[in-house]
Amino acid sequence: MSHDRAITLGRLTVQRIPDMERWVVPRSGVFPTLSDEALAEARERYGTAFVDAHGNIILSVHSWLVRTPRTTILIDTCHGNHKDRRFYPETGNLVTPYLERLRAAGVAPQDVDLVLCTHLHPDHVGWNTQLVDGRWVPTFPRATYLMSETDHTTFSALHASAPEGPAADVARSFADSVLPVVQAGQARFVAAGERLEEELDTGLWLEGAPGHTAGQVALHLESGGRRAIASGDAIHHVLQLADLDLPALGDADPVTAALTRRRLIEGIADTDTLLLPGHVVAPSFGRVVNEGGRLEYAFASGH
Ligand SMILES: [Zn+2]
Repeated sequence: MSHDRAITLGRLTVQRIPDMERWVVPRSGVFPTLSDEALAEARERYGTAFVDAHGNIILSVHSWLVRTPRTTILIDTCHGNHKDRRFYPETGNLVTPYLERLRAAGVAPQDVDLVLCTHLHPDHVGWNTQLVDGRWVPTFPRATYLMSETDHTTFSALHASAPEGPAADVARSFADSVLPVVQAGQARFVAAGERLEEELDTGLWLEGAPGHTAGQVALHLESGGRRAIASGDAIHHVLQLADLDLPALGDADPVTAALTRRRLIEGIADTDTLLLPGHVVAPSFGRVVNEGGRLEYAFASGH
């Protein structure tokens, strides 16, 4: 797809690898406090690819593929195929050509060096594993999977509590997409502030982005003076730029999530830093610009 060409940041390239291009979620399922006026304004500003004619919120689920001169990194691994998800059935039993799309970008599973899960929700860990002969095995056989120690502790406890309702899907996801990676010895627990790579003018480091989950991390990328931030679910949709305090239903701690969103977004407004968000629909990456006192998203195109 033309909008999924790689972008170049100094000696890095970044490419979007979609798993689900159009995840249609009712307003009540993601932004229950969003007003009719704000919804209509967002549809007017960004179009029906972002807020459909029925007022549903449209999300994308994709990974960010980052290649440095020495490392191939996959950030967030979407829903995955064949997963058992009962509370959000539209996210379960999927059969998507995600790995073919990754191959089309020139990356086979064995080429991935690092997988970074910004947080451990089901839509960010799914392709960590795949079903082989009835067992969940790591999809990326050579990769080290980086995950927040705080999130691992939180979601391990959630899994152990055998919850019901929506949390049961999260517990199932921990069992089928996180535990097998840990048990294979391929997980490495990380903390905010950790540097993943540093070489000449190129650096990658993790920043804490708590609130959506307690341990969520964002990845800063810098090379040759160019910058980007893979922000996980610090922001879900461009309509949150008009109201940075607008909580998403999935935020574990909405007050902290809003503080994180404000810090990240205000920190890059009117700069050249590219935002690589987890759920903004294609082309997904862009810059935050201040248009007469109002923050808006300026989509970038690959080159
Ligand atoms: Zn998400």
